[in-house]
Amino acid sequence: MRVLLLGGGGREHALALGLAGDPSVEQLIAAPGNPGIASLAELRAVDPCDPAAVAALAVETGVDLVVIGPEAPLVAGVADAVRAKGIPAFGPSAEAARLEGSKAFAKDVMTAAGVPTARAYTCTDAESTARALDEFGAPYVVKNDGLAAGKGVVVTDDRAAALRHAEECGRVVVEEYLAGPEVSLFVVTDGEAAVPLLPAQDFKRVGDGDTGPNTGGMGAYAPLPWAPPGLVDEVMRDVVHPTLAEMARRGTPFAGLLYVGLAITADGPRVIEFNARFGDPETQVVLALLETPLAGLLHAAATGTLAGHPPLRWRDGAAVTVVVAAEGYPAAPRSGDVITGAEGPGVIHAGTRRADDGTLLSSGGRVLCATATGADLAAARDAAYALVAGVELAGSHHRTDIAAAAVEGRITIPG
Ligand code: AMP
Repeated sequence: MRVLLLGGGGREHALALGLAGDPSVEQLIAAPGNPGIASLAELRAVDPCDPAAVAALAVETGVDLVVIGPEAPLVAGVADAVRAKGIPAFGPSAEAARLEGSKAFAKDVMTAAGVPTARAYTCTDAESTARALDEFGAPYVVKNDGLAAGKGVVVTDDRAAALRHAEECGRVVVEEYLAGPEVSLFVVTDGEAAVPLLPAQDFKRVGDGDTGPNTGGMGAYAPLPWAPPGLVDEVMRDVVHPTLAEMARRGTPFAGLLYVGLAITADGPRVIEFNARFGDPETQVVLALLETPLAGLLHAAATGTLAGHPPLRWRDGAAVTVVVAAEGYPAAPRSGDVITGAEGPGVIHAGTRRADDGTLLSSGGRVLCATATGADLAAARDAAYALVAGVELAGSHHRTDIAAAAVEGRITIPG
């Protein structure tokens, strides 16, 4: 099979490793890709958010499958444009991608489907925002209604800061705070059949001990030794299938990757958010453990044949990824610094580029994801940090506590 992969971050490098490792893949093309993906795929300088350009590239290269990594092309309708050419695309339609593109739409679907989630109000003015904040009390949760690359959410005890964020965003969702450890569950679906991947946990705050501002994600690990038994079955039954049924009922079936972000509260799992694509950096750890060939799985979802796909196989052990971020990330990341030590296996490229002379340079906030597997979580964590130690990038920073609480058995579910 010939596959076109869209995107150029760490998630796409992890997807490229999975796709290139599938024996059924004879050629992998990526647009725009990155220097890490360049060793696995032929790169094409096409804008992944331009539906007509991507569809033309898919036709020109004669691919059997287009895998869409980031959310922006989905919301722009790239999956629709590819499918209109008769080519299978892994990724939801623009209509279905609103599950991620609009927090208010997602809440509406969850309510209609009876999915357990935080109570919430959509607010567009200071008065209704203040009323909602006071009803729920601190900590305050205010979410930008539109796409914000994982950075549109403010969780704070500071009421004035919550109001300020709402005013800056215009239209926001104010919701009750959910207390409990977070889980990311990825579900591959063709709109009807649905296959869960291993649950993972990511680290959104920039600093150790979950301090500082939210980021796109500073690290992740899988599986979750502390997860309640039966968690995945419960989420499939109470969240995923009702949501897929509601989307189908509305005439906009969701096919692709449904990312369910959950808090495990005293009352059970509650949905924090849906995303319409693989999460970054959880993809790096989940795919590191997936033994089943990736392209075959995504092709089955893209062609409505997932019900006939064999059960997934997983490697034993655990995986950990640690993000190496640029100086100034997330507020004002500096780019253009020389990177060394990033050539070995396990170093996934997220924000890198090659200078004309071949030097590897930083070109984004999250620069590299040091990813390793091990016999258990502690071994995987140690191996990932050994990779971090081998990377040199002036001014870079990383969290030193990725997976630490899980390794030390310090994660507890409230109640
Ligand atoms: P989101 O973009 O909706 O995933 O929000 C980003 C992060 O904000 C989440 O991963 C949580 O850590 C936090 N968050 C969002 N909503 C809530 C909530 N209702 N209660 C507690 N934390 C939340």
